Amino acid sequence: MGKPTGFKEFNRVTEKYREVSVRVKDYGEIFTGTHDIGHLKTQGARCMDCGVPFCQSENGCPVDNLIPEWNHLIYSEQWQTALNRLHKTNNFPEFTGRVCPAPCEGACVLGITNPAVTIKNIENAIVDKGFAEGWIKAKPPAQRSGKKVAVIGSGPAGLAAAAQLNKAGHKVTVYERADRIGGLLMYGIPNMKLGKDVVQRRVDLLIEEGVTFVTDADVGGGSNTGSKSVIDVKTLQDDNDALLFTTGATKARNLDIPGRDLKGVHLAMEFLTANTKSLLDSNLDDGNYISAKDKNVIVIGGGDTGTDCIGTSLRHGCKSMVNFELLPQSPAQRAEDNPWPLWPRIHRVDYGHEESSERFGRDPREYGILTKEFIDDGNGNVTGVKMVEVSWQKVDDNWRMEEVEGTEKVWDAELVLLSMGFLGPEQYASDALNMEYDARSNYQAEHGKYTTNIKGVFAAGDCRRGQSLVVWGINEGREAAREIDCYLMGSSLLP
Ligand SMILES: Cc1cc2nc3c(=O)[nH]c(=O)nc-3n(C[C@H](O)[C@H](O)[C@H](O)COP(=O)(O)OP(=O)(O)OC[C@H]3O[C@@H](n4cnc5c(N)ncnc54)[C@H](O)[C@@H]3O)c2cc1C
Ligand code: SF4
Repeated sequence: MGKPTGFKEFNRVTEKYREVSVRVKDYGEIFTGTHDIGHLKTQGARCMDCGVPFCQSENGCPVDNLIPEWNHLIYSEQWQTALNRLHKTNNFPEFTGRVCPAPCEGACVLGITNPAVTIKNIENAIVDKGFAEGWIKAKPPAQRSGKKVAVIGSGPAGLAAAAQLNKAGHKVTVYERADRIGGLLMYGIPNMKLGKDVVQRRVDLLIEEGVTFVTDADVGGGSNTGSKSVIDVKTLQDDNDALLFTTGATKARNLDIPGRDLKGVHLAMEFLTANTKSLLDSNLDDGNYISAKDKNVIVIGGGDTGTDCIGTSLRHGCKSMVNFELLPQSPAQRAEDNPWPLWPRIHRVDYGHEESSERFGRDPREYGILTKEFIDDGNGNVTGVKMVEVSWQKVDDNWRMEEVEGTEKVWDAELVLLSMGFLGPEQYASDALNMEYDARSNYQAEHGKYTTNIKGVFAAGDCRRGQSLVVWGINEGREAAREIDCYLMGSSLLP
């Protein structure tokens, strides 16, 4: 335990982001990029090293990070040992340290009476220091097994599985239909939250360790992403000893209401992906993105994707910003049916909301709004969104929504971004193998086993569990790698 009285002596203080007025002018990370070691030491000292560390429980960290251990190590300034501990459970702490919503902090025992330990900040600082000091180096396996595994999809689940399978000595090839590796780490989560140099740095290490990446390679050939080559999935199955699907939950939920086909109404991912690609290809000079400049923008739907649409639109220089949410605003404190150590379903202000508030003087979110129609300007362009307010009542334990009479209104909008979640994986590659789906149209594969109905074919990450988090992708990729190793070798030394 760091300091027995640390939690009494020191308050929780999180690391500050860059000033809003500065960061909205660029696409650099919102983080300052520096860590105050003395400050982090006192934050690590707040950890009580509880008898039962709930930060590591099923409600806490999905990759079972050894949190109290590295909190203690930070307090006693043993940074390199802390890094080794961190890498034992998490292949990519530089991703989670930046973008994880930190369920560990929601489950922190100190959080019952005081603000939780700043676990996520500490994780990020450990790995950033590891890179800065040159402690993180490629470690290719000493021996090769002679087995070949193909991984389809290069998001956090595919990358974690590739890292682990390679560690076990298997020859891993990752196929990605996009032109860059990383899945939503590359073409989903914007630069502001996760710099693409940070993603590429880890991909380069994996290459050095012996993982092969094939980009622009659409397995099954059914996407409209413009991949240059199509890989036949059955050939891939024949050529490898095992196949792992980590293809993500890429089918976006649409909003099929009048006016959906108008110009200016886009799925959030069309907007975000094009922006990152243009930014990386040409610093936005090629113009191959959907611009929000001087437009009234309405983002429909919240979550990380909605926030990222807000942050990106602000950087384009939008004229106004509104975010419609169907549900009512969450409470400021945990509700009675949401006790510790569950994930706190409370009102949060993310980076995009903060930036929009500073720019336009108010939080962009409007709660309890049902979108009814997109309005045509007469030339096929969207010019407004018709909405109505809704109220929510709990009837027999189910929430029921009712439109509030007389509240219909049209809001101006020349750009509408639909951010209403995802409906599981695309199925063209899996259909070619006759893979089965669960009731939510995800690949049918038991959590912890990851085996599909086809022998030697596994599935992990969002394509198996539905849209989720980077940390769950890493968890599933690691666990699936172990199952595949057992399938190939009869047993496994992978964690
Ligand atoms: C805009 C946005 C912001 C987010 N922000 C956060 C956040 O802040 N924190 C957080 O924890 N989570 C966040 N998430 C969720 C997180 O990104 C995902 O849960 C995670 O990336 C899922 O990992 P995955 O490896 O399962 O799939 P993905 O990251 O979706 O990767 C799947 C990859 O498979 C490829 N692929 C699919 N089919 C084929 C095929 N047939 N052939 C070849 N390649 C194929 C796709 O092109 C894609 O690159 C966000 C999601 C979005 C959309
Ligand atoms: S990966 Fe997420 S849940 Fe786990 S320790 Fe880091 S911030 Fe917490």
